[in-house]
Amino acid sequence: KLVSREFHPEDTRIRVGDVSIGNGTLVVIAGPCAIESEDQALTIAHHVKRAGAHLFRGGAFKPRTSPYSFQGLGEKALRILEKVRKETGMPVVTEALDHTLYDLVEEAADIVQIGARNMQNFSLLRRAGQSRKPVLLKRGMSATLDEWLMAAEYILEGGNPNVIFCERGIRTFAHHSRNTLDLSAVPVVRKESHLPIIVDPSHACGRRNQVIPLSRAAVAVGANGLMVEVHHKPDEALSDGAQSLYPDQFRQLCREIEPLVQLY
Ligand code: PEP
Ligand code: MN
Repeated sequence: KLVSREFHPEDTRIRVGDVSIGNGTLVVIAGPCAIESEDQALTIAHHVKRAGAHLFRGGAFKPRTSPYSFQGLGEKALRILEKVRKETGMPVVTEALDHTLYDLVEEAADIVQIGARNMQNFSLLRRAGQSRKPVLLKRGMSATLDEWLMAAEYILEGGNPNVIFCERGIRTFAHHSRNTLDLSAVPVVRKESHLPIIVDPSHACGRRNQVIPLSRAAVAVGANGLMVEVHHKPDEALSDGAQSLYPDQFRQLCREIEPLVQLY
């Protein structure tokens, strides 16, 4: 299989702007759950850049459980993301919710995210395969590792070798966190596949006080990167405020992982 180490023994490195993912360093992606306004996005982007983030994240099209929840600013948010890239120099990551939106999203994004709920959306995976734009493929909330690897296989088989895995927690019986971060997936995916894998502790735990310790653990277990939600006013956030770090906490996170990053 194209995703497997047997097919491709060396680690795949994915270049995004000046950043390289999968090359033995730790890449940090940070930003709000959703782009809410130009002011909000630029404020958070400047904070996270100063703290040490390499890439900026922010949802334009949001996959919300309820149709009455904030669905994202759509195309307007894509224009804001372009402005963030221009002002800060950070490449941007944002989600394509379905294949019909792919053209729009891939034009604006440096990495196209495929969300947990879409991990086996096969028309979306096939569309991602037709592009060369790097894809951040999140693990489905009840997906086995084999299902996740095979979802990536769809994209590689289509001709796009630039896939990054993202572990974001799976459904268990636990109530102390939103999902359960499956850190055991990291060494296994790194052994089975040549593709990089990053960890999203924010969607895994759903509570900001668990994000820093889980980030330290993710770095220690060998993740190629982290993706963390940050908001300057989490209480007013239109989505996922409870898990969003304050800018100071994100600075703290970057400080705490620094000694671990030296181990890479
Ligand atoms: C996100 O990262 O914006 C997101 C919606 O995450 P997930 O698909 O993992 O729930
Ligand atoms: Mn979110």
